[in-house]
Amino acid sequence: MQEIDRSAPAPDDWRVELIGVPAGTEVHLHLRLESVMEGVLVSGEIDAPVTGSCARCLEPIEDTISLDVQELYAYEGSTTEATSEEDEVRRIEGDFLDLEPLARDSIVLALPLAPVCTEDCAGLCADCGQRLDDLPADHAHEVVDARWAGLATKFGTPSSSPGAPGESPTTEEN
Ligand SMILES: [Zn+2]
Ligand SMILES: [Zn+2]
Repeated sequence: MQEIDRSAPAPDDWRVELIGVPAGTEVHLHLRLESVMEGVLVSGEIDAPVTGSCARCLEPIEDTISLDVQELYAYEGSTTEATSEEDEVRRIEGDFLDLEPLARDSIVLALPLAPVCTEDCAGLCADCGQRLDDLPADHAHEVVDARWAGLATKFGTPSSSPGAPGESPTTEEN
């Protein structure tokens, strides 16, 4: 049995639409390689940093995924190799056991298609586009009938009042 405890930089295509492993970041492989009848059984854990954005509120997400993997790499000429389709089983090419496709497939399959920043992320306000989680619970928009909106502007109090001079009148008695 052989143990692999190694880090390698992620290529740039380990991603799905909204989340992925940033290219060049360290992916950690902690794997055991065991000789079995038909080939080499690879099992262990793969850890990778992931970044993306929340599917509901677009907030950036930074996380780490840890995956348990177990996969048989078949020997050339083994029964397993002979009885399985080309893309159905991983193969040992000569003495070479390519771990990158295993790591990539495991990670890409585990990436969520709709990642969320928190399980109960409420998303964005449909009216103003702000994160509902950042807003007070009673956040709401006053709905003004378009025909009345003009009047509100016309007769409403001016929104910007010039800085009130002497706002805290102090009586100076010398
Ligand atoms: Zn969110
Ligand atoms: Zn709003």
